Amino acid sequence: MTPGLTRESYRAISLYAPNRAPAKIDLSDNTNLWGIPPEAMRAISDTALCTVTRYPSLYADGVKEAVADYLHVSPEMVVTGCGSDDVLDSAIRAFGEPGDLVAYPDPSFAMIPIFAKMNGLREISVPLTASGDADAAGYISARARINYLCTPNNPTGTSFLSATIEQIVENTEGVIIIDEAYAEFAAQNCLQLLKLSPRVVITRTLSKAFGLAGLRIGYAVGDPLMVAEIEKSRGPYKISGVAQRAAVAALTDGVSWVDEHVRMTVANRERLAVCLRSIGLESLPSDSNFLLVPVTDANGWDRQLRNMGIAVRPFTSLPRIGDALRISIGPWSMMERCLEALREICK
Ligand code: PMP
Repeated sequence: MTPGLTRESYRAISLYAPNRAPAKIDLSDNTNLWGIPPEAMRAISDTALCTVTRYPSLYADGVKEAVADYLHVSPEMVVTGCGSDDVLDSAIRAFGEPGDLVAYPDPSFAMIPIFAKMNGLREISVPLTASGDADAAGYISARARINYLCTPNNPTGTSFLSATIEQIVENTEGVIIIDEAYAEFAAQNCLQLLKLSPRVVITRTLSKAFGLAGLRIGYAVGDPLMVAEIEKSRGPYKISGVAQRAAVAALTDGVSWVDEHVRMTVANRERLAVCLRSIGLESLPSDSNFLLVPVTDANGWDRQLRNMGIAVRPFTSLPRIGDALRISIGPWSMMERCLEALREICK
């Protein structure tokens, strides 16, 4: 059997199983806590029966066109998937041979080492620098087939410097996957890097700023030849007909709703950071729709918050950070309830 692709390696994969128990206020998964663009809601409720009884477009051509218009690229540069999870998994499968290395920042999106193992690849973590940036030297010396970057990074919330990303693109030979799940909330993005190298692929999602997490829609943009490889490994029929309709509506007529709610998110994020400071909690600088807040005992604080009806995501022993809570940003009424509960714990 090919190195890396053994029954034992499959057995060693642990299921991704964060605590999804229902809570009155769920600030645990960085979705849009205001809802979805009304245009997307209308597209869902006006869905004709035949959209459900018949198979959808194989590769979601309408969604590709809507993404292309939204980002000012050509549709040949777009591939879609069942959430950006699916796009990331398909990209790793498309570009990596079993046994190849996937380099990823630590801490970062927990699914990457799991996708690497699922596809028989080996993973190597590259710890973030003290300032929370990607470590270019670490990527260059890892000589990985696939270099995964996430900016703004989950769970730290901080963006990587564009100079660092460029250095990684220019001094590595493998594919560079840049996960921009939270790009809409950030001051900058990496789209201009697509001109720097055909090895760069950028993944995005409609689960966060666009509010459509339950419909599972993600996409990647990149060189048409790269994108075609991802499409082959992704397979047909990954986005349901209803989801395709909602995605097209959200990416066209729904964009002004999204922009307005991104602005509200950013304002509440900054306001929450100030309020947290006033109770002795210093969050990391964030470019996304969540704050990472270092605490003494993440699991203990998480239990206490859950008892008060609030779900956040606890992280333990993060490199250079220690224990921390990741808090999604939403309407101020939710932020106030969370603050009250944290105030109680800090007393
Ligand atoms: N990338 C990052 C950084 C994420 O945080 C998430 C979801 N938590 C995803 C990708 C996957 O999102 P989805 O599959 O919903 O598009």
